[in-house]
Amino acid sequence: MRLFDEVSGLKDKRILMRVDFDVPIKAGVIQENFRILKQKEMIDYLAAAGASVAIVAHISSVDSFSELIPQLHLLLEREIGFAKNLEQLENFEQIGQVVLLENIRQFSGEKENSEDLAKKLSKGFDLYINNAFAVCHREHASVSAITKFLPAYAGKLIKEEILRLRDAIDAPASGKVVIMGGAKAATKIPVIKNFLSKADKILLGGVIVNDILKFKGEDVLNSVVDENLEELLKDLDINNNKLVLPDDLNIFENRILDIGEGAIEAYKKIIVEAEMVIWNGPMGLFEEEGFAEGTKAVAEATLKARQKVIGGGDTISAVNMFGIPLSEFDFVSTGGGAMLAFLAGEELPGLKALEQ
Ligand code: ADP
Ligand code: MG
Repeated sequence: MRLFDEVSGLKDKRILMRVDFDVPIKAGVIQENFRILKQKEMIDYLAAAGASVAIVAHISSVDSFSELIPQLHLLLEREIGFAKNLEQLENFEQIGQVVLLENIRQFSGEKENSEDLAKKLSKGFDLYINNAFAVCHREHASVSAITKFLPAYAGKLIKEEILRLRDAIDAPASGKVVIMGGAKAATKIPVIKNFLSKADKILLGGVIVNDILKFKGEDVLNSVVDENLEELLKDLDINNNKLVLPDDLNIFENRILDIGEGAIEAYKKIIVEAEMVIWNGPMGLFEEEGFAEGTKAVAEATLKARQKVIGGGDTISAVNMFGIPLSEFDFVSTGGGAMLAFLAGEELPGLKALEQ
């Protein structure tokens, strides 16, 4: 993989950079800005070096970026131009030194990894930087096919993510505790499988617990479960003694909505003693009052572990909700699905594309 660190002579270079701005938006307002702030360093660095930078990004929950531009100015502490289409992108210096292209997911061919779109995107640029770790699990045109048309480099954030997550994977199994919660078991079970040999304990919460209980034949009432849980769990060794299920649960109106008080105490004891904690996924329906206790206890206990690595959009939102600064953790990954795929030991198409 070619690292951006190796690039010199940036003055007057035309750079196309893929970033990840996929943050939650409500009524046109950015709710959580961690991913955007994590891109600031690279943007500032390139601009200060005298390069012209066109930024490519997506936000899943909106069609257009147009109403978000003023908020991006404030977060990035600079004016950024806005290119509405590929024609404007080609002549982007007329709009500004740093310009953002309209939501790339709205361009046909992005999700299909279209070479045609990638070629059009690349027109007139000197080099491409991928600084969007969180989309590297996607084989999309602005992540993958683009590397066929421009000299491609891994940005500083990708380098940081790979080094820090690799360190977490490679840290001694003894003293390592993985905490897995949240929903979308399909993305979490591969991580659990990978860490059965790489951690002391894997503490479970969230919907995966419901899945496992149902799989074992227990009555989970009206709790949320994954549809294809049989398929998902069939080759996970659910009786492995490294896997820790909550002893008690917080059940409300026939739904399991959080881990129970006994489990909270047991999990806290294990977490505070850990040399390394890797945490993804809330323990319960933390967004609703009365069901955030498990997640809050896990967050606070994690701060006491020696090293702590966390990630996941909802995990970060929960930590923010509890008023814990993200800087209290050793590393907060910008990746949701990408972090999980990396931790599962999978090959990420976006990273592979940077190797060719
Ligand atoms: P992350 O974004 O941190 O990876 P996920 O997206 O996997 O986390 O899951 C977060 C969601 O899971 C939250 O919206 C939370 O309310 C939900 N959740 C966790 N436990 C439960 C539960 N027992 N029942 C219903 N929803 C749950
Ligand atoms: Mg999520």
